[in-house]
Amino acid sequence: MEGQSYARMPRVKIRELRDDYARFELRDTDASIANALRRVMIAEVPTIAIDLVEIEVNSSVLNDEFIAHRLGLIPLTSDRAMSMRFSRDCDACDGDGQCEFCSVEFHLMAVCRNDETQDVTSSDLISSDHTVVPVDYSESAASIDASDGGGITIVKLRKGQEVKLRAIARKGIGKDHAKWSPAATVTFMYEPEIHINEDLMESLTLEEKKEWVESSPTPVFEIDQVTQQVGHFSLISLVMLELLLSIYLTYVLCDS
Ligand SMILES: [Zn+2]
Repeated sequence: MEGQSYARMPRVKIRELRDDYARFELRDTDASIANALRRVMIAEVPTIAIDLVEIEVNSSVLNDEFIAHRLGLIPLTSDRAMSMRFSRDCDACDGDGQCEFCSVEFHLMAVCRNDETQDVTSSDLISSDHTVVPVDYSESAASIDASDGGGITIVKLRKGQEVKLRAIARKGIGKDHAKWSPAATVTFMYEPEIHINEDLMESLTLEEKKEWVESSPTPVFEIDQVTQQVGHFSLISLVMLELLLSIYLTYVLCDS
């Protein structure tokens, strides 16, 4: 029983936290809890994603299904997801999934009238709810493609081509479809606890110690300039979890 309560009362220490990234230490537990957390983050945290697309006009080179699939993968801001209803549980629309409680409507209209190719991006999507909009990654990931001024490319149009559609975004979880997964990736690793055999280490010459320290692919150890003893750079702990919030599923949608 003691072991059980130990595993169920882990301690969390945030090491790094950004809008799209978190790194933390999980202590006083075992790998099963870390893995459970990882799986919940990937598959069971609800988000909002485009789930139904009605295409009115499409004279682009991509077929309707292709465009609908790309729209589904566009990350949307999902702060509202917790208060929104799942379409299947919505009694306001009898599970139709098109009412204000369980859906958000988007419109997209684009016509190319120039000789130059026109990019239709997620910035061209017009949302019926200002709290649910495509994630703008232009500031944080400007290096992905600085030339297109932000937005995820959905389709490219040449002169005379047109796309006009209506899309419905709904609440869902990653277990149903990966487009609802809030994380691009979630990984965890044990941090090793390394003990140096001091007696053996002292028997080495300074040159040998330097060689030993440099043999580590990442700088983990250092030699104290005064005492010439080998020590850790920093104290390391037990288990670490990393999660990368979805928002940046953009690699899926990056223009190739
Ligand atoms: Zn509804």
